[in-house]
Amino acid sequence: MPITHRPEIAPAEEHRYRAYFRCFRGCPGEYSLYQVIYRCPTCGGLLEVAHDVDALRRRSPQEWKALLDARVGTTEWPYGSGVWGKKEWVVPHIDDDNIVSMFEGNSNLFWAERLGRQIGLPDLWVKLCGNSHTGSFKDLGMTVLVSVVKQMIHQGVPIRAVAAASTGDTSAALAAYAAAAGIPAIIFLPQGKVSPAQLIQPIANGAHVLALDTDFDGCMRIVQEVTQDNTIYLANSMNSLRIEGQKTVGIEIVQQFDWEVPDWIVIPVGNLGNISALYKGLKLLQRLGLIRRLPRLVAAQAARANPFYRSFRQGFRERVSLHAEQTLASAIQIGNPVSYEKAVQAIQETDGLVEQATEDELANAAALADRTGMYTCPHTGVALAVLFKLREQGIVQGHERVVVISTAHGLKFTPFKVGYHEDTLDGVESRYANPPVYLPADPQVVREAIARKLENPPRP
Ligand SMILES: *Cc1c(COP(=O)(O)O)cnc(C)c1O
Ligand SMILES: [Zn+2]
Repeated sequence: MPITHRPEIAPAEEHRYRAYFRCFRGCPGEYSLYQVIYRCPTCGGLLEVAHDVDALRRRSPQEWKALLDARVGTTEWPYGSGVWGKKEWVVPHIDDDNIVSMFEGNSNLFWAERLGRQIGLPDLWVKLCGNSHTGSFKDLGMTVLVSVVKQMIHQGVPIRAVAAASTGDTSAALAAYAAAAGIPAIIFLPQGKVSPAQLIQPIANGAHVLALDTDFDGCMRIVQEVTQDNTIYLANSMNSLRIEGQKTVGIEIVQQFDWEVPDWIVIPVGNLGNISALYKGLKLLQRLGLIRRLPRLVAAQAARANPFYRSFRQGFRERVSLHAEQTLASAIQIGNPVSYEKAVQAIQETDGLVEQATEDELANAAALADRTGMYTCPHTGVALAVLFKLREQGIVQGHERVVVISTAHGLKFTPFKVGYHEDTLDGVESRYANPPVYLPADPQVVREAIARKLENPPRP
């Protein structure tokens, strides 16, 4: 006895929609999403997934909102995923049977009430993308890439394995989704530069893990060589299928605010894929008429790996690439970011900014946030530290609504947390260290210790 009208969750008119690869710089040519191709054959630049926006516009903004809202939390495969709940906007034609999903997306927006009050910003929110199957936002892109590969294999394309260079989280996501699909995965990691959790994830998922004696940029060069062989499919974010999945994060944020646009979104960046994706999703919402304006995007970089910040400071007159130094924010220790051109567009078109944070700033920002109930990874620390600066400078104003994108779960970075609270991190003065107190099992000594602690409560 249905009382309220619920829109169809799986609409029949999917066949109307069309998506294909094209050159991001605008060279002519369209390529199938099920073709092994990563760069424009004409200019060598990045590809992007293009959609037939006119076909999508035949559904009104109100209809799209109702459809997307109805899918949140549904058990109807595959629409309960935050990515596949927007299937028509991502990869419209893929067979549902080939979709490899772990119900990624729909991660919670945390109202950072106490932290926000401390910096005079009561409308501060943190999008917890680390609350996901493998503990980072990389799941959003990997579900799309691995699903397309599964469909290609199904269609008879000779693919033997998927491969990626990684700063840790890409490999964890690729290994998990590939294992779920039964596709071999080959992972290239910079030796000694990923956390123990990130190293063990692909090992546990049965991937072929190659730890190379180089940094991420070195791994990236090797994987591009190896994937010249078309039977080994490249899963780095140069592959714009990942961007299509990751772009849902911006859409989801707006949806979670009942389709209102925040004033700012701050995001930690390395290879610059995720900020490109964030912009692409928001831009699609605008083109489809679901929103009118765009939020201002802030790219947050670690000062030890800051090529994009340096380019920005020169007004993007030239593309900077450099040797990235070791940083606690290991997932963004990248000196030659692949998605540079897409990210420049994201900053320019949103009146955005690029700012940086030192090791000391990122670690203390993360610890301060943890004191208010979060459990932040170092990259989220970079974004928070950058926000604190922009707030202090009055660039971000107290009445504005700000979303910080938390890219990974803090549980992946235990050595960072331990090192901070032991005050042993290089270049960091641990202002909020909270080491355990070691005591004999003596009630009197324990009572005295508790009394001392409660007389000196931590700062609010
Ligand atoms: C991959 C990653 C980033 C950076 O994303 P890019 O697309 O490389 O800019 C930031 N934080 C974490 C935790 C990541 O895994
Ligand atoms: Zn081109």
